[in-house]
Amino acid sequence: MVRMTVLASGSRGNSTIVSSATTRILVDAGLSCRELMKRMRAAGEEPEALDAILITHEHQDHVQGMAVTARKLGIPVYLTEPTHRAWVRWMTPQKRITYAEWIEQRQAAGHRPQATGQGTELVAQTSGGSDQRSVIRDPMVAVAARCSADVTAEPDAEEKAAVEEAIAETAASPERDPTSLPSVEYFRSGNGFRIGDIAVTPFTIPHDAVDPVGFVFEADGVRIAIATDLGYLPSNVIVQLRGCDVLMLESNHDVDMLRDGPYPWSVKQRVMSRVGHLSNDAAAEFLAKGYDGGAAYVVLAHLSENNNLPELARIAAERALRDRMSLLANHLMLAEQDQPMEAIVL
Ligand SMILES: [Zn+2]
Ligand SMILES: [Zn+2]
Repeated sequence: MVRMTVLASGSRGNSTIVSSATTRILVDAGLSCRELMKRMRAAGEEPEALDAILITHEHQDHVQGMAVTARKLGIPVYLTEPTHRAWVRWMTPQKRITYAEWIEQRQAAGHRPQATGQGTELVAQTSGGSDQRSVIRDPMVAVAARCSADVTAEPDAEEKAAVEEAIAETAASPERDPTSLPSVEYFRSGNGFRIGDIAVTPFTIPHDAVDPVGFVFEADGVRIAIATDLGYLPSNVIVQLRGCDVLMLESNHDVDMLRDGPYPWSVKQRVMSRVGHLSNDAAAEFLAKGYDGGAAYVVLAHLSENNNLPELARIAAERALRDRMSLLANHLMLAEQDQPMEAIVL
């Protein structure tokens, strides 16, 4: 028996459990540890039974609970070496600076600051103190560390919870390096490996992170593909999505809602770019023309809260799948941000 439970999906946090009879893998840990545990229990999954955490890419909505969860459960984290390095850089000790200090540093560095956010505190990386390249977790860099969908200036509740949790953990054992993990296992895109009785194939996806991947999982003759956070569907990805029993695919935004919405043009461009996120139309086009139609379940995921509506994503996919939907094939489900999706059991 193979089971997939989406605990959360969207720009405020992503996490899914894929399990076989003997192995349980957490794919991304984009909620605080506490929230992950809570949702696992609500979904009937035992956190203590997890064998590993697998990471797709370093954006906050995929890693913000990773370290605390791995340490608490004492389980290994599987990720690519560039992704690990990017996360460690992100976790470099930080100090708070004032907006005035930030402007000063920006001017010293030859940048013209935008006059927004006066009086707010910004977070700057210090990387060991005296170093002049300090500046520089300015708002745009902070944005770069998240998925570009649904960017907001203020950290959301889950982000705050994850940070508070990490701070509390550090206070309890201040000598511990915040980037320490019980164990780290590197994989490379394209090279399959096994965790227990689950075969894992990571594949490269086009997204604005250092080395982003999607995954195919195979166990007991069941094949599950997870492909979210991708600007388009290149042929290497389409190949991986063939022959799946469960296809979890991003349906991030409605193009009109994004275009007419409140985001700055630069952000809109990023979301729509070849390394951004899949629109409802792009997902539907794949489902209509590029997909083999063989999955029992199609899960639409990473829906934007600002630039999409679940009904729009569903209607686009339903139209695309049209007469291929039946009791046994292409059962359409929508992954949610705020609660676990009903488990898929095959
Ligand atoms: Zn991302
Ligand atoms: Zn994401």
